Amino acid sequence: MTEQLWLRPAEALARANELKLMTPTQKSLEMVGKYRDVESLLAWAREPREVALIMPRVGSGSQGMRPVMPDEFAWAELGRLDPAGHGTSCYDIQPGAAVQLSPRLIRVTANNGSIMTGPGTNTYLLGGGATNEWAAIDPGPLDEGHVDAILAAAPGPIRWIFATHTHTDHSPAVAPLKARTGATVYGQRSAHSQWQDASFTPDVSLEGGERFELPGDTTLRAIHTPGHASNHFCFLLEQEKLLFTGDHVMQASTVVINPPDGDMAAYIESLRSLIANEDLEWIAPGHGFLMTQPKRAMQGIITHRLKREAKVIAALRALGAVDAEALLPRVYDDVQPRLHAMARRSLLAHLLKLRSDGAAEETGGAWRLRG
Ligand SMILES: [Zn+2]
Repeated sequence: MTEQLWLRPAEALARANELKLMTPTQKSLEMVGKYRDVESLLAWAREPREVALIMPRVGSGSQGMRPVMPDEFAWAELGRLDPAGHGTSCYDIQPGAAVQLSPRLIRVTANNGSIMTGPGTNTYLLGGGATNEWAAIDPGPLDEGHVDAILAAAPGPIRWIFATHTHTDHSPAVAPLKARTGATVYGQRSAHSQWQDASFTPDVSLEGGERFELPGDTTLRAIHTPGHASNHFCFLLEQEKLLFTGDHVMQASTVVINPPDGDMAAYIESLRSLIANEDLEWIAPGHGFLMTQPKRAMQGIITHRLKREAKVIAALRALGAVDAEALLPRVYDDVQPRLHAMARRSLLAHLLKLRSDGAAEETGGAWRLRG
């Protein structure tokens, strides 16, 4: 027997459990329910537009096996690792657990999750092949337990260590990992001291443009991407068009640009250069799951930063000559006060960019627009 019932979307959603609505039905009703009447819904439907995917993927994790929606961070990675949808891949990032991302690529995440590091710092292992030798990217914070996890996850000896940059959640474990493997270390020392791992001493200093032929048909190219840090490098795994972005692109959170080592103009320029010059399919961030549509993600970051810059300009226009402290609540009115310490650094980065663009000037701590 088929029962029929006319309901408004909101009424159906309120009874979702009783009506046993499938996820796609529920999501469709949520989408449709946003429109005040049929007219406005049809007007929207006639417009050229992007339709959000509703197709869930099945994953496993701390809540057991469950559908994972496209707006969840694990969704893209589940599609790559478990295309047939057996639910064998994980929707959580579990510190210390090795995740095989491809035959030549493994991820182990450090147990240092926080508001700054998201689910923790990712260490990547790549290589393998006939010699079964491996490279490690970003060994992470000083944590012997994590170094143990990296060594346990590596199927063979680690011969090379690369550092995207030298913030204290990325490179301090380089020294103990080198001590236990004898690997050669590649990266660049920092010119500044704040938040930096002063112990970092590369055997080979990178400049950008270097290519490394690693075992297992693995070619890694270093790309200098200053902005988050002046000594920041992304590494491109050419065979998979996969970019290790360190903190240049993070999943889930806005990258902190902390002057003077952090530089907003350089950050945006580094993103633009990646978009213009590289063929990319995947991002392997320093924090978070694998991400698809790299250029779209990067363009989104640029747009977000320029929107923030526009707010800085609007606030300067409205307030006249003011110190940065007075601008903060106005420019970051959408950011929780507990994050204002970080926002303060980013605001300074925006102001310095505007000054170097010739759009703003500062005297005695007071900022104003020029001309
Ligand atoms: Zn960093």
